[in-house]
Amino acid sequence: MESSRILDITSDRVSDPATNYRGNILIVDDLPDNLRLLSRTLSAHGYKVRSVTTGAMALRAAQSPWMELILLDIKLPDLDGYEVCKQLKSDEKTADIPIIFLSALNETFNKVEGLAVGGVDYIAKPFQAEEVLARVETHLTIRRLQKSLQEQNLRLLREMEERQRLEASLFAEKELAQVTLQSIGDAVITTNAQGNVRFFNPIAEQLTGWKAHEAHGLPLSTVFEIVNEVTRKPVENPIDKALLEKRIVGLPNHTILIARDGTEYAIKDSAAPIRDRQGQIIGAVIVFHDVTESRNHARQLSWEATHDALTGLINRRGFEQRLIEAIASVQDRNQQHALCYLDLDKFKAVNDTAGHIAGDELLRQITTLLQNGVRANDTLARLGGDEFGLLLTKCPLSKAVQIAEKLKDLVHQFQFIWDSKTFIIGVSIGVVAINQASQDLMEVIGAVDAACYVAKGKGRNCVHVYRGDDGELI
Ligand code: GH3
Ligand code: MG
Repeated sequence: MESSRILDITSDRVSDPATNYRGNILIVDDLPDNLRLLSRTLSAHGYKVRSVTTGAMALRAAQSPWMELILLDIKLPDLDGYEVCKQLKSDEKTADIPIIFLSALNETFNKVEGLAVGGVDYIAKPFQAEEVLARVETHLTIRRLQKSLQEQNLRLLREMEERQRLEASLFAEKELAQVTLQSIGDAVITTNAQGNVRFFNPIAEQLTGWKAHEAHGLPLSTVFEIVNEVTRKPVENPIDKALLEKRIVGLPNHTILIARDGTEYAIKDSAAPIRDRQGQIIGAVIVFHDVTESRNHARQLSWEATHDALTGLINRRGFEQRLIEAIASVQDRNQQHALCYLDLDKFKAVNDTAGHIAGDELLRQITTLLQNGVRANDTLARLGGDEFGLLLTKCPLSKAVQIAEKLKDLVHQFQFIWDSKTFIIGVSIGVVAINQASQDLMEVIGAVDAACYVAKGKGRNCVHVYRGDDGELI
């Protein structure tokens, strides 16, 4: 019976501030008159009251989670009030309900005993209603304040724990990011929003020659000097550009980084603004790597595609390209170029007598000889075995013939000495004009090749000029 009534109190939610009750109070007294009087007084002042007459009933009624204060008589038929108080204080569920003793035992000893077992106050009987109300109100307020303090403390504690956990995980993340940046193969530099250096990874230190602590706080352009590889003009700082344009920017091609000690590295890569969670730009990052080797390799490959490895002259492919440009460049009747085709005479004999290495050396020496015999803006090329092409720009045919004759004489006067043997070399040269009548590459090459063939046929070591109506050629 009793427990079902306690449950009723629980479901009433009497301490809910939305209800009109000022508090939920248990009165324990074996005298019905006292109970009635107290109950009426408190109820009249807005309290929800529960009354019991024995210690055992008090212990059970106090289990209600809504119970906020107990008025406890000392003299009870079963347990005395001190014992009830002790038991309530030792039970975790009821320990913090304030207990006010109510008793006719009015000695100091009784009051001290009451406080000693955990009571918060002591009201002597016969009591004054105002006193009871005042003390009840005071202790309810104290209890509520205590409760809210405890809750706040708990909340703070949880917040602190959560913050510590977050800090630990942030630290771990930062460590991981830091280690990643330290160990990647690219150079990484970060700056603040003004473009001043904040972070340098080891590869950035290596390439720029600046230590991270020395670079810290300096404008990026001080520690990251970049120029165009061809013009040598300064290249715009990519971080400034990324910050200004608020987007990822790539370095222009052919960018060279000049390190602190003057070493130059071909570099490639990009810069990007760094944003915070609100999207505000708080800095920028530049990531770059050394492409010196691959750029050199690419340059080497492109050189090899258009040059001859033995003599260093441009090859047939490179030469044909220049010829196409020369043919296209003839604008009017007054302007013309000339093309010579040179084939060494009996070159095989050198190979056969002195060996292939001697033949190679002869080709190199002839190259030097020919180069010294022409203007710097003329183009000498090695077209194959012992064949050379010579493009004489803005050169009338008559002048071209003079040059061809001079080259033929130079070669012939030259003596190639190998293993104490001396070789006299001859060269057969075909010459053709490149003018408005020249149609295309095939036609010009065919003509000059034919002219050289005629020169061979005429007994070698001579010059033959191609003409459209060439009887000898026909
Ligand atoms: P001709 O007077 O008719 O020009 O006869 P030639 O002996 O000069 O022979 P030709 O021009 O027909 O052939 C050139 C020879 O050059 C063919 C080849 O054996 C040789 N040769 C081709 N390339 C090289 C090279 O890179 N080095 C050497 N040493 N010899 C080469
Ligand atoms: Mg030859």
